Amino acid sequence: MSLGLAQAYCVQAYIGLGGNLAGAAGNAADTVRWALAQLANHPSMALLAQSALYGSSPVDAGGADYVNAVACVATDLAPLDLLHALQTLENQAGRERPYRNAPRTLDLDLLLYGDCHMDSVELTIPHPRMAERAFVLQPLADIAPHLVNPQALAHLRLSQGIWPL
Ligand code: ADP
Ligand code: MG
Repeated sequence: MSLGLAQAYCVQAYIGLGGNLAGAAGNAADTVRWALAQLANHPSMALLAQSALYGSSPVDAGGADYVNAVACVATDLAPLDLLHALQTLENQAGRERPYRNAPRTLDLDLLLYGDCHMDSVELTIPHPRMAERAFVLQPLADIAPHLVNPQALAHLRLSQGIWPL
């Protein structure tokens, strides 16, 4: 995204990245790194910050351990257009949806979009389950500590496995 006048219309959005299956971009960690590079190179986004990569135990699902991260982008895309851009990247990484909470090559969730609150059929912001997930809150706290309640995160970490990679 070119810097300049357009920046006046930009919003900061936080994106949760995760996956636990190998795909076109390599293993799950390779895929998360590939997705971060795609965000950085996207014509309508500027990558402002990215967390470290974490490993996590599946929550509400079976399968292999996950790799997770959180990114902050500036974008001039509207919320739904940003979601569709993220879904395009998921598809490029070979994402399939055989059943709910199935193992996946790449999951890109729109966590926060400025101070937007919305609830439509296709998109809910803030992401409705982000506050229940250590694998979201821990990497989010790395890049935006003001957005995470440390006591809530500490509580989640008692029951959800998460570790730095
Ligand atoms: P998961 O809930 O495990 O991330 P999917 O990635 O398959 O599952 O997403 C299911 C649906 O959730 C998507 O089709 C999308 O329309 C919807 N959705 C609603 N709010 C959001 C959000 N904030 N970020 C990403 N997807 C969302
Ligand atoms: Mg998702």
